[in-house]
Amino acid sequence: MNGGKLFSLEGKNAFVTGGARGLGFAMACGLAEAGAAVFFNARSEKSVAEGLTDYRRRGVEARGYPCDVTDEEAVAALFSNLCGEYGAIDILVNNAGIINRTPMTEMSAEEFRRVVDTDLTGPFIAAKAVIPLMIKRGGGKIINICGIMSEVGRETAAAYASAKGGLKMLTKNIAAEYGGCNIQCNGIGPGYMATALNESLREKMPDGTINPFDRFIRAQTPAGRWGDAAEDLAGPVVFLASKASDFVNGQILYVDGGFLSYL
Ligand code: NDP
Repeated sequence: MNGGKLFSLEGKNAFVTGGARGLGFAMACGLAEAGAAVFFNARSEKSVAEGLTDYRRRGVEARGYPCDVTDEEAVAALFSNLCGEYGAIDILVNNAGIINRTPMTEMSAEEFRRVVDTDLTGPFIAAKAVIPLMIKRGGGKIINICGIMSEVGRETAAAYASAKGGLKMLTKNIAAEYGGCNIQCNGIGPGYMATALNESLREKMPDGTINPFDRFIRAQTPAGRWGDAAEDLAGPVVFLASKASDFVNGQILYVDGGFLSYL
């Protein structure tokens, strides 16, 4: 068995939603290192431009587009244009996501919908647009970025956990519905990874002491640390994007330093 070829993404096109920074950026760099051509989107022109600068710094040639994943027409048009210009989207990583840490009884239905729209309906929209294009090419890989909140709830996570739990089931449903078309749809459930999304949780308290949540994460994770997206997610995403995982479908791979096993 040739491990190099098994995990090679040479000649593949990978689209990472929300790939301008954070986990999406780290996973896209991992996919590029394995040989894939990388495409990404973000909401704003500014994010796309900043993302492109960061990719250049890393020596990765990426193409970025401002496009909101909740805008069904815009996503369908973008994917169709990309396929026209570059031939195919072989790998879709549904990574774009937001969080709202409001206690449930203080959260408006509108705020709840916004999270679900981005974190669950967004992946639905992107998968719906890419699946026919993948079927035409004989198959593809869809990787949904779930989270430990796909499995457990906690205070102030009503919208986020609902969306990520739903995303786990969307993953299984795509596998069930399109597995016969040679589409593998799996999820990655990252544990707590240090990014802009949770920066406030790592900030020291006004009196200079460690944030209790930061302490909780380190104590609760057998690995004793926050995840490092670049180090910890590249391998799992390349595995799920590559031929190595062709018989893996509808699974969620938790990358959490053991967090869920320690509850
Ligand atoms: P960041 O906030 O650092 O980055 C999120 C990216 O998604 C940004 O590029 C943002 O674009 C983009 N985005 C958000 N909403 C939309 C939208 N409607 N349309 C298009 N792009 C959008 O987040 P992370 O990197 O931390 O998180 C990425 C994913 O990983 C999320 O789904 C998150 O839930 C998940 N996750 C994160 C964990 C963590 O510990 N960080 C743990 C488990 C899961 P813009 O720059 O324009 O705002």
